[in-house]
Amino acid sequence: MALLSLIVPCCNEEDTVERFYAETAAVCAALDGVEVEYIFVDDGSTDGTLDILRRLGTERGGVRWLSFSRNFGKEAAMLAGLEHARGDWAAVMDADLQDPPELLPRLLELVRDGAYDCAAVRRVDRRGEPPIRSWFARQFYKIINKMSNTEIVDGARDYRLMSRQMVDAILRLPEYNRFSKGIFSWVGFRTKWVETVNVERSAGESKWSFFKLLLYALDGITAFSTAPLAVASVLGLVLCAVSFFAIVFVIVRQLVWGGSAFGWPSLVCIILFIAGIQLFCMGILGQYLAKTYLEVKRRPIYILREQGGDMHEKEH
Ligand code: UDP
Ligand code: MG
Repeated sequence: MALLSLIVPCCNEEDTVERFYAETAAVCAALDGVEVEYIFVDDGSTDGTLDILRRLGTERGGVRWLSFSRNFGKEAAMLAGLEHARGDWAAVMDADLQDPPELLPRLLELVRDGAYDCAAVRRVDRRGEPPIRSWFARQFYKIINKMSNTEIVDGARDYRLMSRQMVDAILRLPEYNRFSKGIFSWVGFRTKWVETVNVERSAGESKWSFFKLLLYALDGITAFSTAPLAVASVLGLVLCAVSFFAIVFVIVRQLVWGGSAFGWPSLVCIILFIAGIQLFCMGILGQYLAKTYLEVKRRPIYILREQGGDMHEKEH
């Protein structure tokens, strides 16, 4: 029997996990020749999620759970799941049923015969989302794709099914600042995009505030592009050129018309302008320096507090 690992990051999902399990299990029962192992990753939930996972783990076959010592974020949870997955394929799914399990058979079919290494889901609309958020999201994808060689697909969800080979490739990327949308694309392989309409969360609420999303977007840009660093050099060059012409202008004016000390308000404006640009560029540098700092500390990406469930080794 081939094995499919389903990785489900859960953070305060007590209202949804059981429904998720029931609906997904119903779909998976219809897959023939494929066994399914569930890996629920409890990302520092403060509600009853872990109790539900423990119960699922003892009552149902093929359910395992990992629990973090605190909230480490969805990226860390996905990594933990991928590291513990033993399947010939692994799929990442949200616990809130926004990633419809009905798509699983189709994703599996695409990857199973080896035509593709990965089948990933992208939504083609952003229904049910605040319009301002959609606008910012679209701008983000435009900007990051201009600045980075790694293609980041607009509307791509983290919902995807990958071959063992691709999972192993992803696990070889040891970076601390993980931006999965970029990592999935960076490792390459043949990816088939499956389109779907946006599904709203089944219960509970999204863990992403607008501000968290903005920081995540900035993280993504600095993780997959060094273009912002070039901004400093270009701005510096442009300002040098401008000041060169200004100097020529001032000298000529002095020689032709005389009279020296006017224009100090404009001087203050110029100083402020340049100071602003300098701070901005230092900020960009700081972003990369901070990232480097976090990387060189080599801290673990997540810490497990407990794990359990159906641990029997897969026989091959
Ligand atoms: N999630 C997580 N850790 C976090 C935030 C979210 O594991 O710090 C999980 C969450 O339980 C869900 C998935 O990531 O299964 C997607 O989260 P959410 O639905 O809040 O995000 P959205 O769908 O709104 O982008
Ligand atoms: Mg969601």
